[in-house]
Amino acid sequence: MPEQKLDKKKITLTVIFDNIAYLSDLTTDWGFSCVIQTDKDTVLFDTGSRGKILLQNMVKLKIDPQSIHSVVISHTHWDHLGGLDDFLAINPHVEVYIPNSTSQEDEKKIAARGVRSIRVELSHRIATGIFSTGELAGEMPEQSIVIQTARGLVVVTGCAHPGIVNILSQVQSLFPREKINLAMGGFHLKSFSNEKVEQIIDLIQGLGIQQIAPSHCTGEAAIAIFSQRYQENFIQSGVGRRMVLEAKD
Ligand SMILES: [Zn+2]
Ligand SMILES: [Zn+2]
Repeated sequence: MPEQKLDKKKITLTVIFDNIAYLSDLTTDWGFSCVIQTDKDTVLFDTGSRGKILLQNMVKLKIDPQSIHSVVISHTHWDHLGGLDDFLAINPHVEVYIPNSTSQEDEKKIAARGVRSIRVELSHRIATGIFSTGELAGEMPEQSIVIQTARGLVVVTGCAHPGIVNILSQVQSLFPREKINLAMGGFHLKSFSNEKVEQIIDLIQGLGIQQIAPSHCTGEAAIAIFSQRYQENFIQSGVGRRMVLEAKD
């Protein structure tokens, strides 16, 4: 019999909405969403711009919308919030974690589905091994997700409006004993010059971030620079990208 190692618990991260393609049979549209599955919980982070596409992609990726326990909204721009109402129409049995700055109007739309929303101001535990950074200030206040894995922390950002370096620095101060293994999501570098992107990557590498999987609003030019700089530690992302990680003991 082949020798078997003791199985560690798995965490599966799947990008289900992105304007960048990874698997060709999925639909791309402007926005971002991913699903985080552990042995106990399933968390939906952001909902893309359109519910129909969100739900179609979810089904194609064999993720049951009913399996989701919690929804975390990074910030209330339409390309992250747009799919929420359609999702809640088919699964209202969730809690929705919204940034503290969310308008009453957006909160009321969630309540209209009979769903409880929780305003997040400071770092908050969402599920076992999954946390919100808390709302960070910026041109648009935003929360990001932190996942504890055997190889270190994974940080998932929506648009990173408070600044990707600020967000990653905040994560390091929230988890001073842990290193960040991977940062992924939208880094909002579309309007930055190549030189500025290089400087930002210097800072990110200075923080010891080992792997990088930028997508959504990072911008094609910036993604190409990340790829050059990170080499084998650059992870191509986009809708359909799935990563299976080992949970922290
Ligand atoms: Zn966005
Ligand atoms: Zn945004």
